[in-house]
Amino acid sequence: MISEFMLQQTRIETVLPYYDRFLGVFPSLPHLARAPLQRVLKLWAGMGYYARARNLHAAARIIMKDWGGKIPSTKDDLRSLPGFGSYTAGAVASIAFNQRAAALDGNVKRALSRLSGISDSFSPLSKKRLLENLAEDLIPEGYGSEFNQALMDLGATVCLPARPKCPSCPVKKSCSFPASEKKPAKRQERNRREEVWSVALIENRGRFLIHRKDGGGLLAGLWQFPTVVNPPGQKEARQKEVLRMGLRNLFGIKTKFQKALPPLQHSFTHIQATLSPYLLSLLPAQKAPQTALRLPARWVKLSDLSRYPVSRAMMKVADLLKSRFNGV
Ligand code: SF4
Repeated sequence: MISEFMLQQTRIETVLPYYDRFLGVFPSLPHLARAPLQRVLKLWAGMGYYARARNLHAAARIIMKDWGGKIPSTKDDLRSLPGFGSYTAGAVASIAFNQRAAALDGNVKRALSRLSGISDSFSPLSKKRLLENLAEDLIPEGYGSEFNQALMDLGATVCLPARPKCPSCPVKKSCSFPASEKKPAKRQERNRREEVWSVALIENRGRFLIHRKDGGGLLAGLWQFPTVVNPPGQKEARQKEVLRMGLRNLFGIKTKFQKALPPLQHSFTHIQATLSPYLLSLLPAQKAPQTALRLPARWVKLSDLSRYPVSRAMMKVADLLKSRFNGV
């Protein structure tokens, strides 16, 4: 808990002497909780971001008062304490208590995105949730601590941002990061990068699921059929798997692939997108789903689509659909 707070905004080399000094003065939680805040701040002086010291001190007092002096062990309980964001709560729950809790720092996010093939799916917020769900699914029972630390090390020392060391990577066989991306990227013609978008056309009693794209970035705020952006070279089977996983995690629905429709091309200023539409149906025994993440989403008839702000790219897909579902 102490080290995670200190490491939130400070490099490990800087933290080490502070950490030793801190534990020398406050060897246990009661020592920390009893100390006046000024004393804690003084020991913190030089590391900056003093809100961390205030939060740590406040958390220690709450743990003494409300938790009988025992640090809570689950991510949800930890998140109720001051200073515990998703990462810090996940790191403490997993590393200290061996819980199956995701702890996504920047390195882990990058490694997991490459491993799983989840690239720019939906939006940064949705992507983070997808990765968190994936990380929690992957942690073997009883190995929360080791697994998360291994993932952190993988991201920090092997799966580097610019030059990942793929040939010596211990998980290269199960990695989705396409070989072409492991080499320095070639310059794209006209500076447009190529992307393949898997577009889910989920039919439910003559209506299709659309949602408002959340977060920032391209087409944010517009309505669209659920879409996943794939890294170049992603195999089709993997694209479908990521799409199905996204639908399950983001909308809480289970789907079945019916048919791939012919791909369409659409040019944005910096992106040449190949739109790959897939017709899907809901698996039986599901009610018309509510969105699990409360994304604004609707089931609409194609003839009602024009009531929503929809991008030209998505209108192309809708036109293709209309030609197949005449009069819907
Ligand atoms: Fe990262 Fe390469 Fe390992 Fe994939 S194979 S996880 S891209 S280092």
